Amino acid sequence: MVFVLKKNVSKEKIDTFVKKIESEGFSTFLSTGTEHTVVCLIGNTASIDLDQIVATNDIVEYGKRVTEPYKGVNRTAHPEDTLVRIEDVTLGEGYFNVISGPCSVESEEQIIAVAKAVKASGASMLRGGAFKPRSSPYAFQGLHAEGIRLLLLAKKETGLPIVSEIMNISQIPLFDEVDVIQIGARNMQNFDLLKELGRLKKPVVLKRGFANTIEEFLMSAEYIISGGNSEIILCERGIRTFETMTRNTLDLSAVALLKQKSHLPVIVDPSHAAGISSLVPALSKAAIAIGADGLLIETHNDPEHALCDGAQSLNPEQFEALMHQIRKRAVFEGKYIKENA
Ligand code: PEP
Ligand code: MN
Repeated sequence: MVFVLKKNVSKEKIDTFVKKIESEGFSTFLSTGTEHTVVCLIGNTASIDLDQIVATNDIVEYGKRVTEPYKGVNRTAHPEDTLVRIEDVTLGEGYFNVISGPCSVESEEQIIAVAKAVKASGASMLRGGAFKPRSSPYAFQGLHAEGIRLLLLAKKETGLPIVSEIMNISQIPLFDEVDVIQIGARNMQNFDLLKELGRLKKPVVLKRGFANTIEEFLMSAEYIISGGNSEIILCERGIRTFETMTRNTLDLSAVALLKQKSHLPVIVDPSHAAGISSLVPALSKAAIAIGADGLLIETHNDPEHALCDGAQSLNPEQFEALMHQIRKRAVFEGKYIKENA
């Protein structure tokens, strides 16, 4: 059950309302949107008289029973879209953002070169992995703390906010100055990590696990929002199917469904979905058409020699050409997209 509060209600009044509900044996969490605060009740709410609560609490605009197991991320609980703001970047309905950079940070020259190139083409944030979850323990695992340091250097050079993947709780202090924390597909159900990120007031890109259902995906986002952090960007990055000619199968219907079921921004990663750089433009355009709020694209200054995911990475020229096409289509869909730098 959720109660959507009227606009501009004072914190004191919200606290009093929450205490009253909790004294009846329910736990609650707040989802603070751009317009309204929503109080979500957890527990068996069958005995609650919803109409009576609405009638006797003047701060409540309306109440709703939410039947799905995901409450806080549910659009029923929060009809308007959540906008996630990172410095001067706004992610969510009405905006289209492209996040780009190499799979992994490899050296200062590499990350600075890619950061400058993607910025010049109109990317709004820089991504780069410092901790890499690789299938082989013998493959390049990332530069770790040094990788984060280099990303911060690239931010200083270009002004682009940075996105990087975290793999476990012990790494959290290293992400202090990272603007957006990415949870990769392999960690989508690392529940302890999700809970910790719920406590952090920092935007999160949550990638869908390649063997997870849409409901499981939303439940993972629920872990974060129920901890008090609603700055979540959902990322569809392809799921594993019987198909072997592509690295994964991009589940575009998930994007449309997620936009219906949830108020959170949804972006698409065509690079990991395809595994082949020549497919990235087509999948990017399809993602715009289906209503995605943005893209996460791997770009490398020298894909042939990349230490990770070179086959699916665009070079700066290809990224520049794709951005022209993306911009036209995003504008056609009525979205605001950043101009070239
Ligand atoms: C990545 O973004 O480089 C990555 C490892 O992605 P995923 O978790 O989607 O496989
Ligand atoms: Mn990658």
